[in-house]
Amino acid sequence: MQIAFIGLGNMGGPMAANLVKAGFNVHVFDLVEDSVKALAGLGATAASSAIDAAKGADVLVSMLPAGKHVRSLYLGDDGLVAHLKFGALVIDSSTIDAESARIVAKGLADKGIDFVDAPVSGGVAGAAAGTLTFIVGGSDEQFNKAKPVLQAMGQNIFHAGGHGAGQVAKICNNMLLSVLMVGTSEALKLGLDNGLDANVLSDIMLQSSGCNWTLQKYNPCPGVMENVPSSHSYQGGFMVDLMRKDLGLAMDTAKQSHSSTPLGALAQSLYAMHSLHGNGNKDFSSIFTLFGQADSNK
Ligand code: NAD
Repeated sequence: MQIAFIGLGNMGGPMAANLVKAGFNVHVFDLVEDSVKALAGLGATAASSAIDAAKGADVLVSMLPAGKHVRSLYLGDDGLVAHLKFGALVIDSSTIDAESARIVAKGLADKGIDFVDAPVSGGVAGAAAGTLTFIVGGSDEQFNKAKPVLQAMGQNIFHAGGHGAGQVAKICNNMLLSVLMVGTSEALKLGLDNGLDANVLSDIMLQSSGCNWTLQKYNPCPGVMENVPSSHSYQGGFMVDLMRKDLGLAMDTAKQSHSSTPLGALAQSLYAMHSLHGNGNKDFSSIFTLFGQADSNK
């Protein structure tokens, strides 16, 4: 099977490397030449353009920054829709708005090309280890067609529903994660400000009704857990600005469906404020540093 991979950034690079490792014939392209060279060094075939990579491909995977890049790659001037073969499958794993995913799916379907949106959860570490979670939108047939390729890059493959459903499920999850991270940070800081030990308070909440994923796997207070970004100056992990992007997509989706998401909106404002203070490149658990005791003498 010939696979084209477009977008070899922080996520796409290691994902494409895992496809090579799994024995697929992978043709790669990125606007950054060095990224293409790095993959060629691992056994992929370097393509000179996206069109060159797409020629003859049975499956094309894209991992691009945002919806406008994905729409333009497939449906823009001289887009890939005119160069992919009839019956090919496109897997777009970028995190984009559901509407863009549906527009691209429709544009490709008109030419007999299958499409699934398959955004991921698991971050750069999951991409490197091949343990990503894929959340797929598309028909049953398209889901089954994509599965063997996705299994070479991830561990959990979910079928969320029709086109766009993968993107909607992904941003619902990340909106909830942001709210949990803000709430957990606030609670831990309140305890600290009142003389509690963060380890003791975390242990208590882990066994109580406040228990949640951020306490179990990603404690935001430095020193409570060893191998998490909070204990490494909030470096690595999932960047504040990427969480802001996902919250922006969640708010756009809520507006379109007339849904009320007050806590998501508040989390979006808090993360925007946090980014403004120079924290955009830090891990999203650094929101912990936004909270604290006011100076009572002022
Ligand atoms: P990135 O900026 O590191 O990589 C994007 C790559 O796409 C870049 O190398 C860029 O040169 C390339 N590119 C852009 N337009 C192109 C075009 N027309 N043709 C070829 N290449 C093109 O971003 P990333 O961190 O790899 O994220 C990619 C996607 O995955 C985003 O949608 C992001 O929201 C999502 N995501 C990221 C993470 C994470 O932790 N980094 C986690 C989950 C999901």
